[in-house]
Amino acid sequence: MKIAFIGLGNMGGAMAHNLLKAGQQVFGFDLSEKALNTFASQGGIVCESPQTAAAQADVVISMLPAAKHVRDVYLGEDGVLAVLKAGSLCIDCSTIDPKTIQDIAKTAQDKGIQICDAPVSGGTIGAQAGTLTFMVGANSQTFEAVQPILSFMGKNTVSCGEVGAGQIAKICNNLILGISMAAVAEGMALGAKLGIDAHALAGVINSSSGRCWSSEVCNPWPEISPNAPASRGYTDGFANQLMLKDLGLAVEAAGQVQQPVLLGGLVQQLYQQMCLQGKNHLDFSSVIQQYLPQP
Ligand code: NAD
Repeated sequence: MKIAFIGLGNMGGAMAHNLLKAGQQVFGFDLSEKALNTFASQGGIVCESPQTAAAQADVVISMLPAAKHVRDVYLGEDGVLAVLKAGSLCIDCSTIDPKTIQDIAKTAQDKGIQICDAPVSGGTIGAQAGTLTFMVGANSQTFEAVQPILSFMGKNTVSCGEVGAGQIAKICNNLILGISMAAVAEGMALGAKLGIDAHALAGVINSSSGRCWSSEVCNPWPEISPNAPASRGYTDGFANQLMLKDLGLAVEAAGQVQQPVLLGGLVQQLYQQMCLQGKNHLDFSSVIQQYLPQP
């Protein structure tokens, strides 16, 4: 298969590497020379623009920072939709708002190009290991077509509905995650202030109704969850700035449909505060530092 891969950063670089390891021919483009050099050293074919890459491929995959980059890569001056043949397939794996991909899909579908959103969960570790989960928004024909391609980069491919539904699933999940992490941080910090041992408290929560992924797998208190970022100085996790971005997407999407996201708006401010304090790159469980400077 000939695949154009646009956006070879922390996630996209590892995903493209897995495609190469699976024997696919990959034409890559990124604005970063470092990303392109790594891609070339893994056997990727470096291209000068998104169009040059897409013109040689049947499938385009994009993994870009935000909606403006995705819009640019598909619809901009050097955009890929202008050069793709009818019957080609586009898969955007970036986390963006649902409306942007729905707008792009209108132009793609007018040209007979199949397109879907397929945001991921699993982070950089999942991207490297090829164990990502893809949340796909596509019609049934496109969903069938993307499954074998996504299987080179992930373990699970979930059909969420029509184009945009993958993004809706992703931002709703991360809204809950951002809130649940802040809730666990608040509870653990209060417990410490009131004098209970953190391990005893976590043990009770994790066998009671407060139990959730944030309390059990990624507890914000150091040394509770052995493999959690909190146990290694909040490094190498899901960065505060990415959580802030995803909460921004949820709050923005809620505004478009006039749906209240009361807790989402509140915790967005907590992660905003973390970023303002220069803690952008720390794992989002470090939000506990809003309650106790040094848990
Ligand atoms: P990143 O910043 O490491 O990579 C993005 C890459 O896109 C960069 O190399 C950048 O140079 C490139 N780029 C920007 N504009 C471009 C353009 N116009 N043309 C070509 N390349 C361009 O970011 P990342 O961590 O790889 O995240 C990518 C996406 O995945 C984001 O939408 C993010 O929200 C999402 N995501 C990230 C994680 C994670 O843990 N990092 C987890 C889930 C989802």
